[in-house]
Amino acid sequence: MTTEIVDPNCFLCGSDATSRDTDYGNRRFFVCSNEACGEYEISRSAMKRLEGNAQFKQKAMSKARACRDTDKILEIIVTSPQLVEATLKPRSSGNPA
Ligand SMILES: [Zn+2]
Repeated sequence: MTTEIVDPNCFLCGSDATSRDTDYGNRRFFVCSNEACGEYEISRSAMKRLEGNAQFKQKAMSKARACRDTDKILEIIVTSPQLVEATLKPRSSGNPA
């Protein structure tokens, strides 16, 4: 079963992006076409949380861009009831090819 789909919108910047489900559908991995954006993995709960948070999205976007051409990707997850964190993680771990 393949879960790769073309998503018309990057969650962070709204540009064309490719995305697929990861972590058994609990997260989504985006590869954005926007040069000012990048690659990231975001959990479903973080997406819900950040829906209207343009400020966070913009910050996360520049972090995602910083990951380009490195061996890291940006991971955006809810770490506590009030906190969403965007951190860098190694590309190789926990990211099914
Ligand atoms: Zn983007």
